[in-house]
Amino acid sequence: MNTEQPSTPIDIARQALKQLALRKIPPTPDNFRSVYDEIAGTKSVDESAGMANALGKVLRDAGKGRPKYLAAAKTISGLAEKHDWAGVEAQLRDLFPVAGGVASWSAAVRNLVRQLEVSHKGLTPSKKKEGLERVLTNFESDPDQLMLKIQALVASWSSGTQADSAVEMPQPEPETPVSPSATSSAEAGPLAMLWRDILIKTLDLGLMSQLKYLPEIAKQAQALVEQARAARLEQDVVKLSEALKSFWFTLEMSSDAQYRLHESLLHLLRLLVDNMGELVVDDKWLYGQTAIIRDIISKPMDINVLYDAESSLKELVFKQGKLKHGLVEAKDTLKQMASTFISRLAEMTESTGEYHHKIEKYQEQISSTEDITELNVILDNLMGDTRAMQLDALRSHESLKETQVKAAEAEARIQQLTAELDHISEIAHEDYLTGALNRRGMDEALEREFSRSDRLGTKVCIAMMDIDHFKKLNDTLGHDTGDEALTHLAGVTKSTLRPTDVLARFGGEEFVIILPETERDEAIQVMTRVQRELTRQFFLHDNERVLITFSAGVAQREPGENADVVMKRADVALYQAKQTGRNRVIGG
Ligand code: GH3
Ligand code: MG
Ligand code: MG
Repeated sequence: MNTEQPSTPIDIARQALKQLALRKIPPTPDNFRSVYDEIAGTKSVDESAGMANALGKVLRDAGKGRPKYLAAAKTISGLAEKHDWAGVEAQLRDLFPVAGGVASWSAAVRNLVRQLEVSHKGLTPSKKKEGLERVLTNFESDPDQLMLKIQALVASWSSGTQADSAVEMPQPEPETPVSPSATSSAEAGPLAMLWRDILIKTLDLGLMSQLKYLPEIAKQAQALVEQARAARLEQDVVKLSEALKSFWFTLEMSSDAQYRLHESLLHLLRLLVDNMGELVVDDKWLYGQTAIIRDIISKPMDINVLYDAESSLKELVFKQGKLKHGLVEAKDTLKQMASTFISRLAEMTESTGEYHHKIEKYQEQISSTEDITELNVILDNLMGDTRAMQLDALRSHESLKETQVKAAEAEARIQQLTAELDHISEIAHEDYLTGALNRRGMDEALEREFSRSDRLGTKVCIAMMDIDHFKKLNDTLGHDTGDEALTHLAGVTKSTLRPTDVLARFGGEEFVIILPETERDEAIQVMTRVQRELTRQFFLHDNERVLITFSAGVAQREPGENADVVMKRADVALYQAKQTGRNRVIGG
């Protein structure tokens, strides 16, 4: 070996080549560089590491939400470490196919549009759109996969293999987070765990709560939640995906059936109400009520709309019950009148028939006799019979007149009854369910109490109460029990209030209490007493105690204030009572 130290780069290069030949090392760029470094005593920078780093970073950034890029970044950095540049190139080509990506997309879109318009056996346009929507959603983060899947989907329409599962429900791909490596025993990565948790929560919290009234389907959903929880390996996920696919199908069928059931019931109700309207055209009030219900159920369905409809129907039934009772009574009277009339009429014709018969006989006797004494006797008899007949006729006439008067009275009573009921419904002051005052009654009481307070200079308070979590009570124990609970609450409240206090149902499960001659603090005490009393007098359902609590807002009226202003203050206080934990009374 030449001990002379080469000084210029040309000399070093020459020496390096010589050394390679001597050591029989193949003259690759890497080998040349390492011998060159050895001779020159330097360490040349490996740019490839830096480049691989930069590439990896770019791919990882692009890989946010694109697992394919993440996997490629990992593979590429491994290959770069080993200086396997051919491998790196292959990976990159794989990621960014050069072969006319744009051209393929435009062809794919053109084909898709065409195939959407063409009709395919056994496939409706909406079914096709559904499939497309699924592919778009499932592969939106991976344009290359998306194109492949769209092409496969379109091909499946033409080939008639529409339900190709690879198209409709993607199986976990090797590069998906569920199984980052291609082996089936691969453990899930953190991203996959995140997805898994989201899926389990969605099924458990989102789906299960919707299946309360479908116990069979709820059971299946529960099994899926368990399956998702237990899934660790790729094959588990594949199985889960299949089970989910069939579950969605079952659910779709079931919700379709539910929807039809819902629609049919509503249709039936509309039919019933329409029919009722036809039958009661004569009764203005009833007709009006059916029109209200018809109007309510023509709106988009909402539980409060249904409650309103139910409330109106109940009032209708109540009124009909009253009306029917009165009408049956009046009708019975009329029927009795008619039968009396007929029997009187029969009696009369009978007696007049007999009279005619007698007259004929007297006529015969009169024409055949020549004897004046006999004629006198005949005439005496005739007079007697005529008088008797007249009496008979008079009696019948009077009885008929009497019947007529009674019939007219009965008819008048029916009219009066109907008018009275109309009037009562118009001026009704009480809520038919709870016996508390209704809105009309409340408005009048407010006016009365406010003007008295102005006149006498006394204080007056208003409390607004709203039952806590009443929706839950309705949901768990049923609507009828909810109604009973309302009646119970009104009963306990009324019995606890002072006789001068006024309880009114403001609507639904909200009540207003007017407390005359009462200051704010005292009113709060009264309401707190009602709360306490409710914990003593339990509402019983199936012999079980159900605790009803309410929140209330109390406001004292300032002189001259109108009802709206005071009610508003009470309502704000009620809102605070709800916000701060319920079951409390707050003064506004
Ligand atoms: P919160 O404590 O916030 O008041 O809860 P909540 O469930 O009581 O909620 P909200 O006051 O909004 O709901 C009132 C519910 O009361 C709506 C409806 O389900 C029910 N409801 C309204 N009117 C009636 C009725 O006449 N009878 C029955 N049974 N339920 C009614
Ligand atoms: Mg309410
Ligand atoms: Mg409530």
